[in-house]
Amino acid sequence: MTMFTVLVVEDERKIRDLLRAYLEHDGFSVLSTWSGGEAITLAARAAPDLVVLDLRLPDVPGEEVARELRRTSEVPILVLTAKTATEDRIHCLELGADDYLTKPVSPREVVLRVRAILRRLHGGTSEEQPRSYGSGELLLDRTRHTVTVRGHAVELTNTEWLLLTSLANVPGRVYSRYELINRTRGYDFEGYERAIDSHVRNLRHKVEADHRHPRIIETVIGAGYRLGLHADRSIPTATEPSHTTNTG
Ligand code: CA
Repeated sequence: MTMFTVLVVEDERKIRDLLRAYLEHDGFSVLSTWSGGEAITLAARAAPDLVVLDLRLPDVPGEEVARELRRTSEVPILVLTAKTATEDRIHCLELGADDYLTKPVSPREVVLRVRAILRRLHGGTSEEQPRSYGSGELLLDRTRHTVTVRGHAVELTNTEWLLLTSLANVPGRVYSRYELINRTRGYDFEGYERAIDSHVRNLRHKVEADHRHPRIIETVIGAGYRLGLHADRSIPTATEPSHTTNTG
């Protein structure tokens, strides 16, 4: 099951791929980029639960990315730095980083630090908090598998759930039909891209205010579908912090 989303910002491909592999193995959903500029855009769209940030990036320096993230959100930041000076710790904390590691880093150590930061922030619960989109229009609770649209609970089939949560991973990003098939495989697709369209049609009937003019699940002609709502930064609904469920 998808739990927390981590954004990895690292221009060295080998390290980026290793971190992704380790984090995914540990159950995290991972977004990654080599670019500081794209990191700012991705963080705004997808509202990740944590950002792993390399300071030496080829376009926008990591320091600037951190400042920009801090300006707009309280997302925890784990900084990766190649610098070894003693003032580094102070420097990183001044940036608003929650923790830092000096390169070369062990991917295992990164996973442990990520876990520690999230545990500290979320009071020991490993459950993902419900996510809100479009100023509360859409709420997704991945732990309990529930969807709320404009204040009303909506029942979805497994395939519809997977479609919607896939699109919501990065709001605004276009997902091709082929990609959506891969993400929902194992349920009732037979591999036909057109099958996606009929599931999207059913989903729209359930979540759109007017299914003929969809705003939540947008069609991008010739490319696929995307979530038309932005991720919200704060969670408007209260949740029971230590309640555990077994929804599978
Ligand atoms: Ca670098």
